[in-house]
Amino acid sequence: MQQKVAEWYNDVPLSNNLSAMKLSTMLFTSLSISIAALSISYGYARRDLGAPDRPLWATTIEDLKQICGLKLATAAQYEREAASAQNAGSKVQTQLYNALAHSEHIHVRNYMRALNKLGSRYIRRALAPEMGVAATSGFPRSIALERYLVDSRHEQSILNALDDNSNYAARIVAWTSGSDVKHILLLEQCAMACEGRCAPPSGYVVCPTCGNTSDCEHADCYCPFCMTPSGSFVHFLVSISEE
Ligand SMILES: [Zn+2]
Repeated sequence: MQQKVAEWYNDVPLSNNLSAMKLSTMLFTSLSISIAALSISYGYARRDLGAPDRPLWATTIEDLKQICGLKLATAAQYEREAASAQNAGSKVQTQLYNALAHSEHIHVRNYMRALNKLGSRYIRRALAPEMGVAATSGFPRSIALERYLVDSRHEQSILNALDDNSNYAARIVAWTSGSDVKHILLLEQCAMACEGRCAPPSGYVVCPTCGNTSDCEHADCYCPFCMTPSGSFVHFLVSISEE
């Protein structure tokens, strides 16, 4: 019987055995190559995202939300300052704060748009206590608010946005930062004018696209930040004769 089985085995064509082995080898090789290609593609995709261990744009979204909240609080502060200055009869101070509040609201609008582009949105919340300028008032308080944003928030937020590959968000923060530096200069100029140490400006203009603010005497033909033509600027004029 054993001899019979050996004969049957020997009767199976050798070429059939070899073909089956070749087919198995080819299938195994193809499967291995496919798995390797998928692994490499996945690795590249994760590397391109830049932040494999955290949600996409998480740092930038948090930065934009925090600055948006601070901007809203600043706009509200400037509206109170404008009302106070109007009651005190100072037209230049009133118009400066009206212009600054308008600028801050444009910043807020741009931050909200940036958050929407990143798939998020701003939810209003209480002002962060870290600003630490509650003890002061008037021009010193306003300048402290602006300096806090310029010195402590904008630069790192721009770097975070670039690191997150969000050039749009980085540009919005850069516009805000440049605009806030101008706010500080205008507040200092207005403080000096109110003390009689320099002539008050004839008014202020605000770029409706980025919120850049200038006095009328130094307004550009085009916004130096976003290239909006001066014909679109919003004017807050001061009647010098009433000062
Ligand atoms: Zn502009």
